[in-house]
Parts: sequence; C-alpha cells; structure tokens
Amino acid sequence: MATETLNPFEISQRQFDEAAEILDLEPGIRAMLREPMRELHFSIPVKMDSGETKVFRGFRVQYNDFRGPCKGGIRFHPDETVDTVRALAAWMTWKTAVVDIPLGGGKGGVICNPKEMSPRELEAVSRGFMRTAGHFISPWKDVPAPDVYTTPQVMAWMMDEYNTIHNGYFPGIITGKPLEIGGSQGRGDATARGCAYCTREASKVLGLGELEGKTVAVQGFGNAGFFYAKILSEEFGAKVVAVSDSRGGIHNAGGLNADEVAGFKRDTGTVVGFPGSEKISNEAILELEVDILAPSALENVITSKNAGKIKAKISAENANGPTTPEADAILHEKGIHVIPDFLANAGGVTVSYFEQVQNATNFYWEPEEVRERLDKKMTKAFHAVWDMSQKKKVHPRLGAYLVSVDRVAEAVRLRNGSFA
Ligand code: NAD
Repeated sequence: MATETLNPFEISQRQFDEAAEILDLEPGIRAMLREPMRELHFSIPVKMDSGETKVFRGFRVQYNDFRGPCKGGIRFHPDETVDTVRALAAWMTWKTAVVDIPLGGGKGGVICNPKEMSPRELEAVSRGFMRTAGHFISPWKDVPAPDVYTTPQVMAWMMDEYNTIHNGYFPGIITGKPLEIGGSQGRGDATARGCAYCTREASKVLGLGELEGKTVAVQGFGNAGFFYAKILSEEFGAKVVAVSDSRGGIHNAGGLNADEVAGFKRDTGTVVGFPGSEKISNEAILELEVDILAPSALENVITSKNAGKIKAKISAENANGPTTPEADAILHEKGIHVIPDFLANAGGVTVSYFEQVQNATNFYWEPEEVRERLDKKMTKAFHAVWDMSQKKKVHPRLGAYLVSVDRVAEAVRLRNGSFA
C-alpha cells in the first residue's frame, strides 16, 4: 500500500493533478500551473544582541500571477522549509481564484525563531527580509502579508524599509498593517468571519438550517480559532462546546464563552483548566459528536487513521492543510461536508485585497462596509464551489480546485494562448 505523504508541496501537486485531469487541461498549462513561476532564496545577516552575526535563510515564492499580483503571507518559523512555502504559495493561487479577487498566489518565509529574539533582532530580520525581497516584489507584482509569527508591527517595519529603498510612500506593498498606517478595518477577524459565513451557507445547503443552537468544536484557539468561536456563538447563536490549544483541550456540553476562555488563556497560557470544563485531548476533540468541527491549528491532523472516527456533519477548515487526501475521501464517503481550507480561510486574503484597494484610493471604509463586502464574496465563492461539486459529483475540495484551476487556466489562455 502506498504510504500517506505529508510533504505539503507533494500534497498540493496531487490535488492539482486530480483537478487538471478532470478539467482536461492542455499539457502546457498543466505543466506551468504545477510549479512556482519564480523563487527567491536569500541570506539575511543580522548582528544579534550578543554581538554575534547570524545568517538567516529567507524565501519568497511567486507561484502564479496570471490573474493579478502574487499575494500571500510571510512566515517566521524555526521549522520553515521551502516545500512548505511552495505549497502555501500554490494554495494562495487557488485561494485568490476561488474568491475571485484579481490576485495571484505567493508566500514567503524566514527560518528563525521569533520567540527567542529581542524586538530589535526581530526588526533587523524584518528589515533584512525586505532589503533583499524589496527588489523582487512591488505593489503591482507581489504583495506580502502577515502569517505565522509575523505581526502588524513586522508589516510596518517592512513597509518602512521598502519606502526607504524606493524613496516614496507605498502602503500597498504589504497588507495587514496597523490601522494608523494604512491597515483595513476588519482584518483581525477576517479569516474566521469568512469561515463563519461559509459555515452558515453549508448548513443551509445541507438542509441543517440556521446555525442557532448547533454544537461546535474548535481545535486550535489562536487568532482564527478564537474569532471563529466568538463569531459563531455571539453572532449566529451556535454553542461552542470544546476548544483546544497546543497543551490540550476543554469540553463543556453547556457551552463555552469565547471571551472568557480567551481571558483565562491570557492569564494562564492555556485553555486547559478553564473553570467548569473537563479536559479533553487534541485527538479526542476531533472525534466529538458535534455538528461543526473547525480544525484551526495545524496541518495533517485528520488522516486515514482518524477520519473514520469523525462524527461532525461539517468540517470547517480555518487551518491550512488539516486533512490529507486519503482522509478527504473517507470523510466524503461518510457524508461529512468539508469546507476546504483555501475556501474556508479565504476571508483573510479577501480583506487584505480590500486593504490594497483602500491604499490605492487613499479612502478608508467603515467596519460594516468591510463585513458586507466580505459576506458577498464568501457567499458567492461558497456557492460556486457547491455548484461545481454537485455538477461534477466530487468532494468539495476537488470542487474548489476545479473552480480555481479553471479560472487561472482561463487567464493563462487569454493572456498567452501559446502556453497551451
Ligand atoms: P495562531 O498561532 O494564532 O493559533 C494557533 C493555535 O493553535 C494556538 O492556540 C496554538 O496553541 C494551537 N496549537 C498549536 N499546536 C496545536 C496542537 N498540536 N493541537 C491543537 N492546537 C494547537 O495561528 P492562526 O493565525 O490562528 O492560524 C491557525 C491556522 O489557520 C494555521 O493553519 C494558519 O495557516 C491558518 N490561517 C490563519 C489565517 C489568519 O488570518 N490568522 C489565515 C489563513 C489561514
């Protein structure tokens, strides 16, 4: 039996291949969309507080820009690999296409551990990244954003460095900036909000009705997981019965208050021990008898080993890559509706796009306007994927790939038919 690969880039290529086969893509376009268009690998030398000079490795991958400038975050992580960055850049290409915003896909990363760095060292790595990448990207070519362990402050330093290099004011070079210097309202909870809108639509099309009273389990109570729990319970009346973080999970059949749990986590460093809850493992939280499961932490948590034990009706993937292809097939067989990652978590990049639009016009929107526009984009994208999955009789992730790959391939044909 073939072993289940966990290499994210190989997974992304396999998913693409399946879509390309069904769409009967021309060989030229197929070969092109299977690989990144351009990659920059570079060194970032930094004088550390100790006086020692450390050289960090940085990457920026421009996967595809046929529908518009590449778009995608920059991750600072000790375990960063170029294959992870490539896979995430590919997923950004499909993500911007599925929500139909005029952007392509890219991603960046630095192998470093921000938890062990002083603020000065972090600033030096951020500026060092832009000092080199700033000649490879531009507001019309490739626009980064925050991702794992990079913050609005990091974006501000990077924008400042870019402005210095290019001698002007270019807020559109990067998104996820603080509000005071060109950020957008609604960026903080955009990912979770987009996923919440998709969950609302999924519940409707599956005949489960409104989200009011539905039970929810959230694995990973970070930015995406916390806001998802908060929005689903406060705005849609759902009941969040379990959440978890890297130290374990908590369960309360009567429901958990997201703000109270977040306050407890701020004080103690974990959700575990929250008053009135029972402890539950990170494996068990996935297998709870709930209506909605939201994997919101890491990759590869739902595999062929545990997919058969999942009992939720909807799996709403805030996280990137939480389900392996083998697990996808099992969930589909069991009738569990997966809202695939690059659709479910596309709210973040959609509001990043709104930020670019606001920067370009130098006119800033109220929070309600951001939410309304986000709702429209996510709802339309959800139904495009649903309709495609129904039409082709495929699981929703493949349906989402079919929508996206078809849109990117059409852009290639229109711009340069000779690639076909
Ligand atoms: P985060 O760092 O804010 O939160 C991650 C959470 O996961 C933390 O609470 C952490 O304790 C928990 N966690 C870590 N290891 C765990 C484990 N083994 N089991 C359970 N929980 C664990 O990160 P985030 O921004 O919320 O991102 C979470 C996921 O969502 C990632 O896959 C990310 O790529 C994806 N995502 C986030 C955004 C966004 O805008 N924040 C956008 C798109 C996708």
